[in-house]
Amino acid sequence: MSIKKEEFNEKIFTRINDLINDYELIKEGEKIAIALSGGKDSVLTLHALKNYQDNCGFDFELVAISVDEGIEGYRQHGIDAAVNNAKLLNIPLIQKSFKDDEGFALDDIYSYFKSACIPCGVFRRNILNKTAYEIGADKIATGHNLDDEIQSFLMSFSRGDTVKFSKFGPELDQIHEKLVPRIKPLWNTPEKEVGMWAIINGIEIHLAECPYSNLSLRAKIKEFLNNTESKHPGTKENVLESFKQILDVENIRTVLNECERCGEPTSAKICKACEIKDIVNENLNEK
Ligand code: SF4
Repeated sequence: MSIKKEEFNEKIFTRINDLINDYELIKEGEKIAIALSGGKDSVLTLHALKNYQDNCGFDFELVAISVDEGIEGYRQHGIDAAVNNAKLLNIPLIQKSFKDDEGFALDDIYSYFKSACIPCGVFRRNILNKTAYEIGADKIATGHNLDDEIQSFLMSFSRGDTVKFSKFGPELDQIHEKLVPRIKPLWNTPEKEVGMWAIINGIEIHLAECPYSNLSLRAKIKEFLNNTESKHPGTKENVLESFKQILDVENIRTVLNECERCGEPTSAKICKACEIKDIVNENLNEK
């Protein structure tokens, strides 16, 4: 069992290290901020980047950022897993929360929206970017795995939203001075292997499902892909290959301005976070 475990770890870390090297995701002297929720993907990203730091032969800095959305009975275990894994690897962790940064928890405001995921995603990205920018991080590493990326690609494809294609790939270019570029070290790592890695190594991760997750387009696409993969192995790899070819020919870039209210980068006049805050404030004032 222990040999199998070592072989498995070797395989998964080699693939991640090769991706980082092939795409030059990390360069000497950079400060990399890891978005650490405590879930399996972000925890593997943390361990993999530590492994890369120990073996790559050059110096760079790692710091982790966790964001507490304020979901009663769900988020705390994720925060605990983030704290414990960061401590285990001796990586400094910055803890942020919707409550401290925005003045409300997701539980307080989710009912004003069609889906809790709308304000949740916008505020989390906003807080992560602001924090990474403030500490002078060169890049934010996220835990997006191969399955997430293919699902997002097919979602944009099915919505005809080709502008979103610019957000795919293992590294996103810096398109605004205040927008910290993202890297995805698990870009070609299948989700199943992330789960296996956590189990066979006995890693503390947050496994519970968010009470606000529902049957979204993403969930349906995920089910379709998993069914097709089990009947036709290699489907996911093939979608990724087609997708890489599209990435090579498409050169779609979004031009960003600064939000007229808060100064954060946005493609509109007012950023999504400020738009959402207006909705929250209107609802709170009505009470
Ligand atoms: Fe936020 Fe839960 Fe939606 Fe994830 S599933 S974006 S944690 S509300």
